[in-house]
Amino acid sequence: MGLFDGKKGLVFGIANDRSIAAAIARELHREGAEMGFTHLPDADPNRPKSENRLRKVVGDWNPQLVMPCDVQDESSLDAVFSAARETFGSIDFLVHSIAYAPLEDLQKPVHEVSRSGFSLSMEVSVFSLIDLVNRVKPLMSEGGSILTMTYLGGEIVIPGYNLMGLCKAALESSVKYLAHELGQSRIRVIAVSAGPLRTLAASAVGDFQKMTKLYEAFSPMRRNVEFDEVGKTGMFLLSDMSSGITGENVHVDCGYHVMGGPPLDADE
Ligand code: NAP
Repeated sequence: MGLFDGKKGLVFGIANDRSIAAAIARELHREGAEMGFTHLPDADPNRPKSENRLRKVVGDWNPQLVMPCDVQDESSLDAVFSAARETFGSIDFLVHSIAYAPLEDLQKPVHEVSRSGFSLSMEVSVFSLIDLVNRVKPLMSEGGSILTMTYLGGEIVIPGYNLMGLCKAALESSVKYLAHELGQSRIRVIAVSAGPLRTLAASAVGDFQKMTKLYEAFSPMRRNVEFDEVGKTGMFLLSDMSSGITGENVHVDCGYHVMGGPPLDADE
């Protein structure tokens, strides 16, 4: 018996097998979940690169839906939710694992960010959660759980995280307001704040190697987190095992976020 036997959900944000959403969906599949997945629309339908990359990850999990979806495009969102209603009827969980900022804005100091880059980053990285929640709510008439992904740079300054830090702060605040608004409908909304993991999105942010070394030297567990640890926590938070948790920002970072200074044994 799996924790997700008979449960159905949608997963947004698998680019490849190193995506955090893939680590979470792997655990959900192991526990018996039925899932639908989305990928960014392919420019050339004859060479469906994004779709193929996604199918490579989820192909063996008996996906109930594989559809293009750009969270900036109302019509692709309409199509996904109408197909989800037709395929699943009701839905038990949703994974939002999406973020984007234009590289030129991400690499600038925050006070030099462009108006358009700011709006675009907030729309894709924050409004997309609000929009998905609004769209999935009618499909969660029996209650449900919604998970999004954040990073410590939304709470404190992580040099190099820049504009994405502002997006994560807004995302974390959205989680609290959404949890408040949907709690009585028995819909839970939770964020996982993961330590640095080498993914496509992470390659755009700061000096990745430097960050992992910091986690190895400073975190209480003196190591960085693993993909499957984030996957398992994500699965737990979406499951009935965490039925009393909502509005929370759960850190899966080997404890790094509790440290206010270097441990006494840390090298210079
Ligand atoms: P990832 O594999 O690159 O996932 C990001 C996903 O967002 C990709 O599937 C990407 O699609 C999708 N996306 C971007 N713009 C989109 C749009 N307009 N419409 C629909 N989908 C769009 O990287 P990841 O690290 O797993 O990122 C997932 C989440 O975890 C992000 O919110 C990230 O900020 C967060 N996070 C990451 C880390 C880390 O260290 N990796 C730590 C904490 C939190 P394409 O790839 O096809 O463009």
